[in-house]
Amino acid sequence: MVIDAHVHLYPLELNRDPVAWGATHAETHWAMLCTRRRRDGRGVQGFPGVDDLLRAMDAAGVARSVLLGWYWQWPETCAWHNRFYAACVQAHPDRLSAFATLHPAAGRDATLAEVQRAREAGLIGLGELSPHAQGYDVGNPVFGEALELAAELHLPVNLHVTDHESGQYPGRVETPLRDFVWLAHTFPRTNFILAHWGGRLPLHDEEAEDLMNVFYDTAASPLLYDATIWQQFLEVVPTERVLFGSDYPLNLYPKLDTEPGLVRLVAEAKANGADAALLGGNAKRLLHF
Ligand SMILES: [Zn+2]
Repeated sequence: MVIDAHVHLYPLELNRDPVAWGATHAETHWAMLCTRRRRDGRGVQGFPGVDDLLRAMDAAGVARSVLLGWYWQWPETCAWHNRFYAACVQAHPDRLSAFATLHPAAGRDATLAEVQRAREAGLIGLGELSPHAQGYDVGNPVFGEALELAAELHLPVNLHVTDHESGQYPGRVETPLRDFVWLAHTFPRTNFILAHWGGRLPLHDEEAEDLMNVFYDTAASPLLYDATIWQQFLEVVPTERVLFGSDYPLNLYPKLDTEPGLVRLVAEAKANGADAALLGGNAKRLLHF
């Protein structure tokens, strides 16, 4: 059973005109990353609806997707996205799960209430969050309380991580790897999923191998690394700590595909040693499906 642990979807009002929506809601960083066009004029990603995602999952044999929130600049956008995801998982409980997003600028009480509300609405994690991109310190006390609450409620936390050695792209934010090591040490009861192979944290830093509360996802892999990353990573990190994730609806193979899809990434994973645990078993265990 294949589970995709890293998918983003947006409400129809955003999908209709992403550029206008980004300007109206002052989500400038998101707009730079997600509405960008390649030199050939095609978008870096699509803006599919729920039914498009379900069709892409069917085509690739993906049983379940985990919808991740975005690391929005504004608390209001986070709450709005969380409501949308609650409706998605209510409509498709057999195929979709979702994580909630947050911004500590909402203040302590509102932030913690948002986490509680998300849990009650059936959301099963926090993320994708990015202190670096959202503009708060990893030591922000409200963020810290949210991470404690996540541990209490058994909500894993997905964090956006970039690799200082991988390629540049517009809107890229540096995320110093030591910050994630610090978070894992400081919040030992919280389970973290470091996105995008965790910026290859365990390959850059041997000590990271011992972080028992840290997991990694493979989101956007083909855009960041060639297929040798699978074996390089799995030589250092036990397969139990890696979750298959795509970053759909990014177009992961822009030289080969005009539309985002999941078929090629599932095939790449299987061809490069991803086992049943990596493809779904680990997500199932960590997320309590
Ligand atoms: Zn990310």
